[in-house]
Amino acid sequence: MKNVDVIIVGGGPAGAACAWKLAQHQVNFLVLDKATFPRVKPCAGWITPLVLRDLEIDPADYPFGIKHFTNFQVSIKDFHFKLRTNQYAIRRVEFDDWLLHRSDPALVHHTVKEIRVEDDRYLIDKTFSAKTIVGAGGTNCPIQKTFFKNELNGHKGALIVAQEEEFAYEYHDDRCHLWFFQNGLPGYAWYVPKANGFVNVGLGGSAAKLKSNNDTLKHHWALLVEKLDKMGLVKGHEYKPVGHSYFLRGKNPVVRQGNAFIIGDAIGLATRDMGEGIGPAIQSGIRTAEAILSSQDYSVKSIQKYSFPSLLGFR
Ligand SMILES: Cc1cc2nc3c(=O)[nH]c(=O)nc-3n(C[C@H](O)[C@H](O)[C@H](O)COP(=O)(O)OP(=O)(O)OC[C@H]3O[C@@H](n4cnc5c(N)ncnc54)[C@H](O)[C@@H]3O)c2cc1C
Repeated sequence: MKNVDVIIVGGGPAGAACAWKLAQHQVNFLVLDKATFPRVKPCAGWITPLVLRDLEIDPADYPFGIKHFTNFQVSIKDFHFKLRTNQYAIRRVEFDDWLLHRSDPALVHHTVKEIRVEDDRYLIDKTFSAKTIVGAGGTNCPIQKTFFKNELNGHKGALIVAQEEEFAYEYHDDRCHLWFFQNGLPGYAWYVPKANGFVNVGLGGSAAKLKSNNDTLKHHWALLVEKLDKMGLVKGHEYKPVGHSYFLRGKNPVVRQGNAFIIGDAIGLATRDMGEGIGPAIQSGIRTAEAILSSQDYSVKSIQKYSFPSLLGFR
């Protein structure tokens, strides 16, 4: 049995941010992840300046490509405009691996299946034990399923289904394009050029609204591919999109039960307007680490619920 003080389940942005803070205070902790890093995560990879500030990252020091946007090309149905902004894009396959290894944590490749409580300690798969556990396992986090199951059921209406693909492409348009509510999509589609010759295209929307409209993401994907071709943004590419789902921010999420904490997508923290999940995941990871270090309460109340203030430069 491997005994430590804290076990973080999941090494995505939420778990990595928590690990980064704990490592600064010499906490005896372990990160378990079912994936071998670097791992692919379906995501457009858009990050705000707040993400960089929270993680104390100077874009000039980031060792991989980071793309800076000073405006977005936005379409809301048939209304088109240029939004002046200050945002960034990274590739998740690079960013997550770098972030996780930044604090050089003890990382174990392990798929968590069973968690039990025994003598005030959490036992994971009869192999690992800790006084405190942090659920950072994303949408299907085993800690969420074991200790917080009834909580996420409360905001099932906030389930977002999304589909995307990232690929090497010699793009000619290096602007970020966003299309909201087109052809009845209850969400938005994107074209995000990345540094070093990659693009990410995708779309996402409310699962409940798609269902009630008797509509599918597949149908909107076909329309998006057509649009990308027509606009000359991506031509001649054979698409192999991947799908994923996650929850938008609920009203009063329960974030702690005893010494079990949950963070990031495991709680459903993505912003209600744009489904931005990386920033809230990182903030929840940092706040959890601070709560563990200070034995204080952990709250997500002050974590951003909307992305528009950041897009407009207010944050
Ligand atoms: C298509 C798409 C596009 C998106 N675009 C953006 C965007 O541009 N900007 C943005 O801010 N947000 C975006 N999001 C949301 C964002 O990707 C998530 O909110 C973010 O990844 C949440 O981070 P996390 O650390 O909570 O979870 P994750 O990144 O999902 O990490 C969870 C980790 O837990 C591990 N894990 C899971 N189960 C187990 C287990 N049983 N045992 C051990 N390990 C386990 C996984 O392997 C994974 O590494 C997008 C989401 C999708 C689906």
